[in-house]
Amino acid sequence: MSDCLFCQIADKRIPADVIYEDSDFVIFKDIYPKADIHWLVIPKQHYQDLNDMATQNSELLGRMMQLVAKITQDKKIGGYRTILNTGKEGGQEIFHIHTHILAGRNLPVF
Ligand code: 5GP
Ligand code: ZN
Repeated sequence: MSDCLFCQIADKRIPADVIYEDSDFVIFKDIYPKADIHWLVIPKQHYQDLNDMATQNSELLGRMMQLVAKITQDKKIGGYRTILNTGKEGGQEIFHIHTHILAGRNLPVF
């Protein structure tokens, strides 16, 4: 989607601090980090949210979560939090699915 911010990051039309990339996914640093480590995992293909991706491509969704487990182990991150906001009422602001990875000191417990 040409006017989608995260599609533009995936296409390199907008710069981002990229941690990892392959043919299906990009992982980059959140521009307003809420923890020592705050990354966003996106599929290169546009799905607006979890409901959309779970319906249309559960195989890719499964691989996105496997990638979360792999990148955190590769980067020697012992513990981390994943957040996947869905819909305005769920706190989603960018309507291209993304999984937040948060880690580091002083991660609040809730
Ligand atoms: P949401 O609230 O949709 O789950 O999260 C969107 C996230 O995208 C926010 O944490 C926000 O800081 C991040 N974000 C918004 N615009 C940009 C941007 O242009 N570049 C990067 N790297 N992150 C962004
Ligand atoms: Zn998009």
